[in-house]
Amino acid sequence: MHKLNSSSRLLRSLRRCPTSVQPLSSLRLYSSVSALKTAEGYRPGQKLHGFTVEKVIPVPELYMTAVTLSHDVTQAKYLHAAREDSNNVFSVGFRTTPMDSTGVPHILEHTTLCGSQRYPCRDPFFKMLNRSLSTFMNAWTASDYTMYPFSTQNPTDFNNLLSVYLDAVFYPRLRELDFRQEGWRLEHENNEDSHSPIIFKGVVFNEMKGAMTSPEQIFAQHCQSSLLPSHTYSHNSGGDPLHIPRLTWQQLKEFHATHYHPSNARFFTYGDLPLEGHLKVIQGQALQSFSRITPDTEVPPEKHWTQPREKHVHCAPDPMAADPEKQTTVSVSFLLNSITDSFEAFTMSILSHLLVSGPTSPFYQALIEANIGSAYSPVIGYDGSTKDSSFSAGLQGIKMDDVERVKTIIQDTFRKVAETGFEDERIEAVLHKIEISQKHQSTTFGLNLIASLMQSWNHDTSLADMLRVNENVERFQKCLADNPRFLQDKVEEYFLKNDHKLTLMMTPKDNYKEELEQEEERVLGSMVAELNREDKQVIYDKGLELANEQNEEEDLSVLPTLRVSDIEPELKRTLLDVRQIDGVHVQCCEQPTNGITYFRAVASLQSVPDDLLPFVPLFCNVITKMGAADMTFNEFAQWEELKTGGLMIGRHICQHPDDVLMFEQGVTLNSFSLDRNFKDMFSLWTDIFNSPNLEDMDRLTTLVRMRASELAMSIPDMGHAYAMKHAGSSLSPVGRIQEICGGMTQVSFMRTIAESSDLTDTMNKLRQVAALILNKKTMRCALNSGPAFMDEALNNLENFLGSLPGKAEQTGLPLLTKVDSFNPECLKTHFELPFPVNYVSRGVQAVPYTHTDFAKLRILARLMSAKFLHREIREKGGAYGSGASMGTEGSFKFYSYRDPNSLQTLEAFDRSVEWAIEGPFSQQDIDEAKLSVFSAVDAPVAPSDKGMTLFTSHISDDMRQEQRRRMFAVTKEDLQTVAQKYLAHEAQMDSVSFLGPENLATTSDKWNVHRESS
Ligand SMILES: [Zn+2]
Repeated sequence: MHKLNSSSRLLRSLRRCPTSVQPLSSLRLYSSVSALKTAEGYRPGQKLHGFTVEKVIPVPELYMTAVTLSHDVTQAKYLHAAREDSNNVFSVGFRTTPMDSTGVPHILEHTTLCGSQRYPCRDPFFKMLNRSLSTFMNAWTASDYTMYPFSTQNPTDFNNLLSVYLDAVFYPRLRELDFRQEGWRLEHENNEDSHSPIIFKGVVFNEMKGAMTSPEQIFAQHCQSSLLPSHTYSHNSGGDPLHIPRLTWQQLKEFHATHYHPSNARFFTYGDLPLEGHLKVIQGQALQSFSRITPDTEVPPEKHWTQPREKHVHCAPDPMAADPEKQTTVSVSFLLNSITDSFEAFTMSILSHLLVSGPTSPFYQALIEANIGSAYSPVIGYDGSTKDSSFSAGLQGIKMDDVERVKTIIQDTFRKVAETGFEDERIEAVLHKIEISQKHQSTTFGLNLIASLMQSWNHDTSLADMLRVNENVERFQKCLADNPRFLQDKVEEYFLKNDHKLTLMMTPKDNYKEELEQEEERVLGSMVAELNREDKQVIYDKGLELANEQNEEEDLSVLPTLRVSDIEPELKRTLLDVRQIDGVHVQCCEQPTNGITYFRAVASLQSVPDDLLPFVPLFCNVITKMGAADMTFNEFAQWEELKTGGLMIGRHICQHPDDVLMFEQGVTLNSFSLDRNFKDMFSLWTDIFNSPNLEDMDRLTTLVRMRASELAMSIPDMGHAYAMKHAGSSLSPVGRIQEICGGMTQVSFMRTIAESSDLTDTMNKLRQVAALILNKKTMRCALNSGPAFMDEALNNLENFLGSLPGKAEQTGLPLLTKVDSFNPECLKTHFELPFPVNYVSRGVQAVPYTHTDFAKLRILARLMSAKFLHREIREKGGAYGSGASMGTEGSFKFYSYRDPNSLQTLEAFDRSVEWAIEGPFSQQDIDEAKLSVFSAVDAPVAPSDKGMTLFTSHISDDMRQEQRRRMFAVTKEDLQTVAQKYLAHEAQMDSVSFLGPENLATTSDKWNVHRESS
């Protein structure tokens, strides 16, 4: 959802690509090199605070030196990656290989965060979010490991968080109460009423019920468990809601003792802070009191099948599907190499990329362009997230009758590739992709590094082999030079002569949801039937006990904290140079961009006719994927891959910082390339502007279907965002456009288009949008580049602008649309969808960015989220997440995520306002809210993104500094006043929207109920 989640399960469908080891940020590349120098100085065998250095691995291509160590007593493994990056990272991970589907590793991940010996308060992890300037805090459970990472730029903060994390994983309290809250429990529906029915409750129980309604999740889960049936992967590590109630508190504690032990741990640190300081703390606070155990967590190799298998599974029908007849998914999966062979894994991930990625790949051409399905199957390409890796190809959104056809296409495609191989340019494009991703600097390098290493390191793959990307590239090139059939031979070996092959088919079943509910009823019924009167009394008492515990005020002073005085008072300003080229406004920002130049532009539109507005997102989605000039879309994609990091057009809408009736709308262009290819990149843009291809009907059909199904599938993960957008749609002009172009309205709109058999009118509309947008009349541009290349970048830009027709008309900035009046409406809307959970939002009309109350509302939103909503809606209500936010579009919004409740949550929103007005919060609470807001405001910005807030949002450094000053100054009275002024029901216009199942409460005529069923 966002970074404030306590935990997120890694989607099984996450794929490792050949560029997964990406260097992302090096904010101090041009400064000292002390962290690197120190690391290079270590010697194998050297003893450091209970550890012994094993290897020192220089990785010049990533500007990094890696040091691996082993803990002398427990054999805990340690990787330190020294790099001149101030965004330091810590992570501790454990190999967690459950042998059932009770979700024990997932529930343990949650309960370890519920308090520890040194920090005996409820949920110290969440509390630390507000006492820290962390740039990332999270934990997640994958199929075979659990990890706990954080990052921060502040050294004191690093040590505070390190201490809390170490104590949480090695010395958690794991009380029964925590197990019941986070895992599962039997409790009265209304816990104060012993006559109300006894039901299942629990955070993970509800989270997994929500997760397992997603057809993608169901498919991915079955694919993994069926392809790897002999050991841990046959189980659901997140927990199957029907199996979760089999888990006991005792089993949870045993799993902790055997899995969360240093002998089963992998530690990781990254950045410019010295290694020895970290080792000293880890030894002193955690490891010194442990002795060695032999953890039984190894995953044996999967036994190879002697013949292929087939499986047929079900999911719920998708009411949002464009064509109800086309809801079948089929894929063919193969078991490949062990990921412990990292060169083979590297080769297979490149081969996978060549096979399935982008319009130039044979599977895209054979499967997607056949126009018989809506998109690739949810599992596609190489999967290195299990010890034995796999590869899958398939389609979703097909007719039942087309299953055989898809299977034949897959087989034929492998055969054809084995015969003809790949064009040299395509291989060159993949290697270009690796080069560009190594040079592109992002701010999350350290986190991405450990996230990509962990799944292989977890099975003891050599770190040196994985880290040296260039060695792998060279070896790959040599293999190809020695044997031109190198990749074709792999295709033969793994896909044509491999009997460990699974064909998985998923079809919707009308009563799928009802059957699951009945199953749950049955499990519940048999448990309740065994309860005697005493048991029921215990359940009632424990329900009250948990509720009391949740209501109890607690002493948080045991937790370390930063102070508001630790926040930098002054903002780091960005130096920009502005000029006019050919009448076009150009913003230049010189940065250490490492041989890459970034181009951004906004083409604004004074007004968009109402009938064209909903087509703008589709236009953005397709225009760079249709081909241009004399190039087909395949040829265009080939050049795009060879020369750039991708060409993107996105929708642009930006509220004026001073006035909610003024805004800027249009589209943004976004692309980057290696300096040597910058000119070629512009020639691709020129082709799109001067001769876009809006003729190819087949291509448009393919893209429309993919888009519609992507949007429909995004709802389970993004339901809160859709609810929030809709709640804001009747409150401001920008909110209205956001809804039409990116809300549930857009999802339905795309569904209607995808259902229509004739796209002639759609194509015409796209041509009209193109005529409005593709010119330089209202364009402004931005370049982020290294000092040495800026002049040439400007020359290239000038040539590009010169090649465009027309004349620049825009002299002042920005080009604004002003609405004379807007009548906000109070709406109550329910989007009825077949989910077992709700996504609830309330939006309230508030103020624009520069208004003096904006800063107060921003701090208030954070305060309410952390000190009220979290407790009421997550802890007590059992929702996966909740919060409030003050958006730059001028609306204040409450939300909940995967929430078993709806109206009860709306009541909690109201009570949070009463709470804020009453003011039972302390100065420490307010300071925490400030720290939390500043940690987002001061998050590191990559060189490629410097100056972008001004460019896209017209928010200057001066405005941001003023906002900073106001946030520091916010007082308790300010918070109470704005809560009364804006959030109380009688105060302002507000709207309520939610997504969720049929609901008796919304049958009254005060509610607009949208039903999408076909
Ligand atoms: Zn979870």
